[in-house]
Amino acid sequence: AESFNAAVAAARALNAYTVETPDDALACADAADTARQSRALKPLSGIPLGIKDLFATVGVDTTSGSKILGGFKPAYESTVSAKLRDAGAGMLGKLNMDEFAMGSSNETSTYGPVISPWKGSDGGNAALTPGGSSGGSAAAVAAGLAPGVTGTDTGGSIRQPAAFTGITGIKPTYGRCSRWGIVSFASSLDQAGPMARTVRDCAILLEAMSGFDPKDSTSLDAPVPAWEQGLSSDLKGKRVGIPREYRIDGVPDEINALWDQGIAWLKDAGAEVVEISLPHTKYALPTYYIIAPAEASSNLARYDGVRYGLREVPEGGNLDAMYAATRAAGFGAEVKRRIMIGTYVLSAGFYDAYFTKAQRVRALIKQDFARAFEQCDIILTPTAPSAAFGIGEKMSDPLAMYLNDVFAVPASLAGLPAMSVPGGLDAQGLPLGLHLIGREMDEQGVLNAGLAIE
Ligand code: GLN
Repeated sequence: AESFNAAVAAARALNAYTVETPDDALACADAADTARQSRALKPLSGIPLGIKDLFATVGVDTTSGSKILGGFKPAYESTVSAKLRDAGAGMLGKLNMDEFAMGSSNETSTYGPVISPWKGSDGGNAALTPGGSSGGSAAAVAAGLAPGVTGTDTGGSIRQPAAFTGITGIKPTYGRCSRWGIVSFASSLDQAGPMARTVRDCAILLEAMSGFDPKDSTSLDAPVPAWEQGLSSDLKGKRVGIPREYRIDGVPDEINALWDQGIAWLKDAGAEVVEISLPHTKYALPTYYIIAPAEASSNLARYDGVRYGLREVPEGGNLDAMYAATRAAGFGAEVKRRIMIGTYVLSAGFYDAYFTKAQRVRALIKQDFARAFEQCDIILTPTAPSAAFGIGEKMSDPLAMYLNDVFAVPASLAGLPAMSVPGGLDAQGLPLGLHLIGREMDEQGVLNAGLAIE
C-alpha cells in the first residue's frame, strides 16, 4: 500500500488532472463487463479516457484552466465527449490546460503548471513543461495516467505538447470534430483531436470523436472514414513534400537532423520525396496572432459575471463595475493580453490595417498549400523548433513563447489535418516530434505516413 500511495502521489505531483472522476471510470469498466457477456462490446468499451478541461461535461467542473469558470458545472455534454461515451469510453477526469487554451507550456493555467514526466539527462533538476495548451493531456498519456485523451488545437496545442512528451496527436481537418460544447477560443481555428501512445490508438479515437453535428454550423457534413481499417505504412506511389521555407534560422541542428531522418524513413516506406515551396510561411505566425486574439476577444465577452462561474460585486458598484471586477479578477495575464490585442485589431481605426490584412494573408497561406498539394500528397516538417523547455524559462517573453508554434500554425490557418509523431530523442534524451500535414479530409494519408515513421 505504501508504494502504491507513493506512486499516486508522484502521479498527482505532475498536476495533469484538475478533477478526478474515478467512479465514472469504474462504471465504464462495469458496463464493459456487461457488454462482453451480452456480446455487445463497442469500439471503446471499458476504455477510460482523460478529457481536456474545456470540453463541457455534465455535472463535472469545466474550468478551461480559468478562474473565471471556477465552479461552473455544465448542464450539457460536448458532442465529442458524448460520442466517446456512446462508443463505450469512460472518464478518468478533466485535464489541466493553459487558460482558455492560450499558451504553449501549460503555465497560464490558474491551477498551476503541469510538470512533464520527462527529465533531461544533463543532471539538472529543472522541471520541464509538457508543452501546451493540451499540457495535462500530453503529460497524462506520457506518464501512463490515461491510455488516450482529448486535446484541442487552435494553433498547435495538440501537436506541440505531443512532440514535447514523446506521444502521438492528430488535429483533423477543421470541422471533423464538432465544436459544440467546447469552450471557444478562436472559432475559425479551434479543432478537437485525440492524443495517445500510437498512431493506431489515435485512429480509433478520432473515428469515435468525428462526425457531422447539426449543432455546429462549421461542422463538416461528410462521412467518417474507417481510418483504423485503412491504416497502412506502405507509402508506394505517395509523394512527400519538404517545404524549403521551413528551414528557418536558429533551429537547432538536432531538429534538422531529425527532419532528414524522417525523410529517410518515408523514402524507406516507398515514398518519393520532392522539394516544395510555401512562400507565405513567414507571415503565418503574425497572421495567427492577429486572428486568434481577435476571435478570442469576441468569444470571451460572454464571461461577464452573470452567466458563468465567478462573480465579483464591488461594494456600491453598478453593473459595469461588476463586469469589470469579475473580468479583472477572473482572467489571467495572458488572456488579458489576448483580449487587448484582439480588441485593438478589431477597433474601427485599425480593423483594415490588421484584421482584414490578416484574413487576406490567411487566404494566401491556404493557396500556398493548395498549390503544394498539386506536387505532393503529404508534407513533412519538424513539429516544434526545440525540445521541451524548462518551467519558467519563457514566461516573461511572450514572443519567444509564440515562436514555439512556428511550424504548427500554417496548417491551422489552412484548416488542414496535421499530426505529430515521436521521431527520436535529442542530446538531452528529450523527445522530438515529426509533423505531417495532409490535404483537406485526408486524415488517412497523415495517419499512414505517421505509421511509417512510428
Ligand atoms: N500556443 C498557441 C496559442 O497560444 C496555440 C494554442 C492552441 O492551439 N490552443 O495561441
